[in-house]
Amino acid sequence: MIKIALLGSTGSIGEQTLEVVRASGGRLGVWVLTANGNWERLAAQAREFGPDSVVIADRGFYGPLVEALRDTDVKVYAGEEALEQVVGLASVDVVVNALVGYAGLGPTVAALEAGKKLALANKESLVVAGDYVMRLALEKGVPILPIDSEHSAVLQCLAGEPNEAQKLILTASGGPFLHTPVEELARVTPRQALRHPNWTMGAKITIDSATMLNKGFEVIEARWLFGMPEERIEVVVHPQSVVHSMVEFADGSIKAQLGRADMRLPIQYALYFPQRLSCPGERFSFAECSRLDFLPVDAQKFPALELARECLRRGGLSGCVLNAANEVAVAAFLNGRISFTGIVSTISATLEKATQVARPSLEDYRQSNLEARRIAEQELRR
Ligand code: NDP
Repeated sequence: MIKIALLGSTGSIGEQTLEVVRASGGRLGVWVLTANGNWERLAAQAREFGPDSVVIADRGFYGPLVEALRDTDVKVYAGEEALEQVVGLASVDVVVNALVGYAGLGPTVAALEAGKKLALANKESLVVAGDYVMRLALEKGVPILPIDSEHSAVLQCLAGEPNEAQKLILTASGGPFLHTPVEELARVTPRQALRHPNWTMGAKITIDSATMLNKGFEVIEARWLFGMPEERIEVVVHPQSVVHSMVEFADGSIKAQLGRADMRLPIQYALYFPQRLSCPGERFSFAECSRLDFLPVDAQKFPALELARECLRRGGLSGCVLNAANEVAVAAFLNGRISFTGIVSTISATLEKATQVARPSLEDYRQSNLEARRIAEQELRR
């Protein structure tokens, strides 16, 4: 049995990972489950899966969680440091990092330090500190397997391929505003932005998809996971989300991975890699899909993608600042404090003012994250 430490088990990826575990016929087991504040759901999951340990990151919910699991053998921990400790437990075979935001970086680093195979949904770990994380993985000889569907698609195109890729082509659905005129974007509401056409995901990534910063994050993620220079990572809008991404080779031949928009597939591919096992759910049917469209990204309408590329070219702490400013700006948009277009302007203003360091340490990232949040907050108050 493969024993999983599932960080963020109460979220969208977390819950879908548990569905994969349920369908695994005992091949997968759960050793650790964690949540931030949703202790009731965490307790219910612990009762169903019987893990060794659970962690509630927000210490305020430790008491109720302990009480809810009093009649079980499950060990209960609280706080951020506990998240970083449980990933290194001896029995853990693979860490699934399904946390959202900067909070994922510490556990990513801790998992690699402990030599644990990492199935990574938390793309922010690579956006913030891709250079650092990949060097650590290399040093420790630990594989990082992407859960993001685009990167899983690239991995699937490369698996068993002896030739080097010339270009990666990431597909983007275009989000809810693909056909919205650019001049209307300043007036769109959180409710509209949260209505993703093809995927049901957590709120933060859904807004990132609406601004298309999510695709910028994925360019950064691809650069680090596959060692591909930024200029050889192309993005193409593909509204049907059937082709999950593609790889081009020296002869001009392109391999693509296709399937239904169902995150259980990339989750399970990461967990069993390099094996493929049966996956529950409907199959894609060409007969039911009359067309597949591909179109270029409208750079004027979605400036966030180029902003992320620029951060990748600048290097240093740029990705960390980009991520922190975005987290603050997305929360502000969801709370009605700024307009949708205010997200990108807050990020741009923060990037101009934040401190730069060429080759950051873990402490530099920590400081930069705090500083960028402070600057972004000041920008919001202007
Ligand atoms: P959700 O918001 O649905 O879930 C986030 C999880 O992390 C929850 O379990 C939440 O706990 C926990 N969490 C949130 N903040 C903290 C914190 N500060 N400390 C500890 N735990 C925390 O997110 P998603 O599942 O949508 O996304 C997770 C990651 O996967 C993101 O990086 C996203 O970009 C990536 N991803 C997601 C996809 C999707 O389909 N959802 C697709 C591809 C990538 P609680 O429930 O208690 O708040």
